[in-house]
Amino acid sequence: MRVEVLAVGRELLIGKTVNTNAHWIGGRLARMGTRLSRITTVDDDLREISSSLRESLRRRPEILVVVGGLGPTPDDMTLAGIAKGLHRRLAVNREALRMVRSHYVEMGRGNLKITPARRKMARLPRGATPLQNRVGTAAGVRLEVGTTVIFALPGVPREMKSIFRESVEGEIRRRLGRLHTTTVILKLEGIFESTLAPILRKTMKRYPNVYIKSHPKGVEEGVSKIELDIVVVSKRKADSAKVSEKIASELKRQVAKAGGTVLSTAGRS
Ligand code: ATP
Ligand code: MG
Repeated sequence: MRVEVLAVGRELLIGKTVNTNAHWIGGRLARMGTRLSRITTVDDDLREISSSLRESLRRRPEILVVVGGLGPTPDDMTLAGIAKGLHRRLAVNREALRMVRSHYVEMGRGNLKITPARRKMARLPRGATPLQNRVGTAAGVRLEVGTTVIFALPGVPREMKSIFRESVEGEIRRRLGRLHTTTVILKLEGIFESTLAPILRKTMKRYPNVYIKSHPKGVEEGVSKIELDIVVVSKRKADSAKVSEKIASELKRQVAKAGGTVLSTAGRS
């Protein structure tokens, strides 16, 4: 399954905000047994948004999560960018307008007028459905284009996470079925990455669907330290646990043969 993120916002490009949203989404997906295949970051600019949207759609991901720029201010133009990219019109969506209204009512501000800025948050590309935002004003948006489902989520991390959990994860689970992920982390000492490389290559070849990644943790007093992540995904929990244990013990043996030691093992299922 291919999932992409398109993060929108100048703050992400000028060193003001770290793209923790993409980072968080990447982690969530990995734990669900799928992963992000690409993160694109663009400016608050209609052409940037529409052209990168089209580029992404050409790769036909199953899910495209667009994040940021759904608010009332003029720099928030994600939905206009999506509409432009799809050659669709923006129109006030009654359900979305109701959501915006009810949010102000919940805040005890039911008397607030629906100004153009507030109405803007309910203007969605044609064919889109709004997704309830339980922690903020701007609704999320769901839109199908060919075989891709586009989700547009607000940039505020708390709001993004809430809608992602509620709407995006459900969609992914329906498509993937339930998958189990087992992660084993091995802490190695006294072996260089270059010595480890051929060992890992052989293991990866034997287990092509397992994600194995070494993270060098520096050299202390001439002893090199490495952390090794082993991530196994399968339909049955027992299977992924068994495979990860098998790989871990094989690697331990080979690391020892190459003169290194495995200090500790941590696992999570
Ligand atoms: P709002 O309705 O609150 O305006 P929005 O969808 O318009 O939401 P943005 O204006 O893009 O969101 O961003 C709101 C805030 O969320 C920004 O000030 C920024 O701090 C944070 N933010 C935006 N994008 C990201 C991101 N990718 N990672 C982390 N934080 C982000
Ligand atoms: Mg905003």
